[in-house]
Amino acid sequence: MDKKEDLLKEVISHAKEYGYVFPSSEIYDGLAATYDYGQLGAELKNNIKNYWWKAMVQMHEEIVGIDAAIFMHPKTWKASGHVDAFNDPLIDNKDSKKRYRADVLVEEHIEKYRDKIKKDVAKGLKKFGESFDETQFLATNPNVKRSQEKIDLLESRLKNILETDDLTALKAFIEELNIVCPISGTANWTDVRQFNLMFSTELGSVAGDAATIYLRPETAQGIFVNFLNVQKTGRMKIPFGIAQIGKAFRNEIVARQFIFRMREFEQMEMQYFVRPGEELKWYAYWKEKRTKWHKALGLGDAYYRHHDHVKLAHYANAAADIEFDFPMGFKELEGIHSRTDFDLRKHEELSGKKLQFFDPELNKSYIPYVIETSIGLDRMFLAVLSASLKKEVLEDGSERTVLSIPPALAPYKVAVMPLTKKDGLPDKARAIINELKFSFQCQYDEKDSIGKRYRRQDAIGTPFHVTVDHQTLEDNTVTIRDRDTMQQERVSISDLHKIIDEKVSLNNLLRHGG
Ligand code: ATP
Repeated sequence: MDKKEDLLKEVISHAKEYGYVFPSSEIYDGLAATYDYGQLGAELKNNIKNYWWKAMVQMHEEIVGIDAAIFMHPKTWKASGHVDAFNDPLIDNKDSKKRYRADVLVEEHIEKYRDKIKKDVAKGLKKFGESFDETQFLATNPNVKRSQEKIDLLESRLKNILETDDLTALKAFIEELNIVCPISGTANWTDVRQFNLMFSTELGSVAGDAATIYLRPETAQGIFVNFLNVQKTGRMKIPFGIAQIGKAFRNEIVARQFIFRMREFEQMEMQYFVRPGEELKWYAYWKEKRTKWHKALGLGDAYYRHHDHVKLAHYANAAADIEFDFPMGFKELEGIHSRTDFDLRKHEELSGKKLQFFDPELNKSYIPYVIETSIGLDRMFLAVLSASLKKEVLEDGSERTVLSIPPALAPYKVAVMPLTKKDGLPDKARAIINELKFSFQCQYDEKDSIGKRYRRQDAIGTPFHVTVDHQTLEDNTVTIRDRDTMQQERVSISDLHKIIDEKVSLNNLLRHGG
């Protein structure tokens, strides 16, 4: 399949057709940037959560998990900086009435120069063939150098404008670059305004500002406000971590690209509390550890790259994204941030409560420094789905669609099918499921020809397909088909559990990625 926008379309329609993801409230024509997970999607999501939770909590003596409320005291968001600074600059096109993030318009403009470089490289490769040296080409080709200089200049100007929050300059910059609305084709822009991304609502029956509370825009703050509770009751010693999986809400201005950017989404975050001065060591540790967790899935190492941040948030002293090669290109999947003592210090200031740890080895108290690992569950879901969806041409020239989801994450582990609906074969198939279902999510399937059933299981990503036939009634053997190789072998029913478990067990993943 072509790795272009087409793939995203294929993923969206496949996800819908097989019950992975539906547009939210579809009978009312859906709600923008909101999606519902269907019967298979809920299973895949749970399996991803499980892999994360086990790798982060169960495999680490010094990490514990919590489940904090979505609503938090409004002061939380004052302390974290979200009330004052969780803004995106937005701009409207007066002709199309479409709204954009002003900074993204400029970034997309800059992206065009990157595309130009890519095209020049492709041309170079074509011209010089095997003797082509990409590094040297990038460093010396005059066209590439010109594009790169332009990129550097525009990026540094954008950075300055964003750092000084100069909205007038941002509009002027958009006009100077002649950026037009892709819908109307005009440059008839409104002024740039700041737009806070938090959703607010009112608490109980009290009216006015005092009652305004927010839907949390990140799960991290639920961890920070519980730092002392957990440290004391869990008798945790530094370094230690607190993990959490939960919903977060952001009123994104440009919410598109399917479940990549939603207004309601789920995060899996872990805050690791360390001694001040040791944070960069732990930052490097977690960056590597989280990368290993991803790669253990076997989707292919080429799907991942690190993007180290040059411009850091004011409270961070190191930050990197683990980027994934989504259908729309490399984008952030997970962030690893060294957040210093910013959050705990701010909460200490606003709450008046001491949020410190007494370190018996150093014989002193301090506010710990924090390394955060933050991954979007929905983005992880999209990563798995888009890298797994394949169309294959078989030896006989026919085509099959297969979802080669890592077996440990697959919604169903095994489909059990009677060859025909007669002769007691369905009962035998059900008896097999009744044994296997204690360990594995199983599916019973008797509709259509066996060939069609295999294709359906390939398309939903079931790793094993067991067929019960007449020989089964004689000698208690079945055939087991492997989704990826399509090879079939005849095995004894009593061996099924072992064969399936070897391939689908989460333990194998945890050994490599835990
Ligand atoms: P982006 O730059 O893409 O908006 P971010 O830097 O704001 O992301 P963080 O605040 O670091 O993201 O959030 C941590 C993780 O949460 C991200 O790596 C991403 O996987 C996920 N995430 C953030 N916003 C969304 C969203 N609107 N929809 C789905 N997942 C999201």
